[in-house]
Amino acid sequence: MLDWIRNFREQLFGEDVPIKTKFFNIVCVGAPFFSLLATLANLISGSTAGDNSNIGIWACIICTVTCLSLYPLSKVIKNVDVLIGLVAFGMNFLIMPLLYITLGGIKSSMTLYFVVAVVFSVLMLNDTKKAGILVTFAFIWYALLISAEAQNWFGLADLTQSLVVYHGNEYLDTILDLIVCSLCIAILVKVLARNFEAQQLRSDKLLAQMEELSVKDPLTGAYNRRFLIRYLESSIATCRADNRSIAIVMFDIDKFKRINDDYGHLVGDEVIKAVADILKKSCRDYDIVSRYGGEEFILVMPGATENTAISRANEIREKFGAMKVAPEIDRPVTISGGVAELSVSIKTTEDFIKVADDNLYVAKETGRNKIVGATYNKGIQA
Ligand code: GH3
Ligand code: MG
Ligand code: MG
Repeated sequence: MLDWIRNFREQLFGEDVPIKTKFFNIVCVGAPFFSLLATLANLISGSTAGDNSNIGIWACIICTVTCLSLYPLSKVIKNVDVLIGLVAFGMNFLIMPLLYITLGGIKSSMTLYFVVAVVFSVLMLNDTKKAGILVTFAFIWYALLISAEAQNWFGLADLTQSLVVYHGNEYLDTILDLIVCSLCIAILVKVLARNFEAQQLRSDKLLAQMEELSVKDPLTGAYNRRFLIRYLESSIATCRADNRSIAIVMFDIDKFKRINDDYGHLVGDEVIKAVADILKKSCRDYDIVSRYGGEEFILVMPGATENTAISRANEIREKFGAMKVAPEIDRPVTISGGVAELSVSIKTTEDFIKVADDNLYVAKETGRNKIVGATYNKGIQA
């Protein structure tokens, strides 16, 4: 039973239901409820205790049944806009005037319900032009109705007075109707606010996802080259301004073409992911890992000197070399790295990356599975 209610609620007011349909559904389900409340208000205040007292109650019941039949009708009439137009028209031009006349005219507090009906109509008709036309004509219609009663055109005042005899309880009636109408408007505002919040949350989430997608590599989850360049540029500027060192390591998998050839590209991808994972795990505050090329990664280490970078890169290299990267691979997979530390001779981000790339080249040329920095190039092995 609870599941059934939950499903029904989800179907009528769930996140995927467009807002205008949601308001339409509120009319289908909420309006009968509020009509019944209004009937109760009439009964309690005794405003329908005249000779024809049952007429007002019958009017409310007709209104309830009409509203209840809207939901099944929406299953038959597939064009929701047509149905919403019909409901907005019927509510303002037929139901409200009918209730106004049968519940006692100006004394019936129905003018409060006119406001509710207009607000509902505007919310359901999300086309501003249509809503504007409807509201204008509805107000003219209501003004005519009230004037007709005031002037007793077509004997309207006599008619309303003959239908309802007040026993001095119209004040209580007004209070109760005020409560019902306020509740109605409060619910509408709440639905609007919740909808807005849900949409805001959804777009914030989407935006975060988009931002993530735009800076990350889908295979490894490491930052992409575009982000690397941006991050390096700003890190270089900050480190220069603060007189701090900054180092980068360019890693490349050794003999990777053979891994692809021997075990296939999918296993090759697993190896690339494993390198990214180990690099990400070794990141400290402000360090970032980016996939620079196919199986080349750059680890940015703001604050690190070349020696620190070399020793950290060697730790990573040794750890990776000892790892069983994929069950299919029966030989050790190794990586090499080239280190660069920012110096006065390095003018641009490209220069910085080039130094690391040159050192990586030396690592490859001199046997692989090693990390090379400037000191190595000067003839001292790091
Ligand atoms: P070296 O030790 O000199 O680096 O030799 P290597 O065979 O690793 O040579 P290189 O670094 O030039 O190899 C790059 C290869 O990486 C070529 C390409 O087929 C492969 N590759 C690039 N991107 C991907 C990818 O996304 N997935 C897979 N499986 N392979 C890739
Ligand atoms: Mg390689
Ligand atoms: Mg390569």
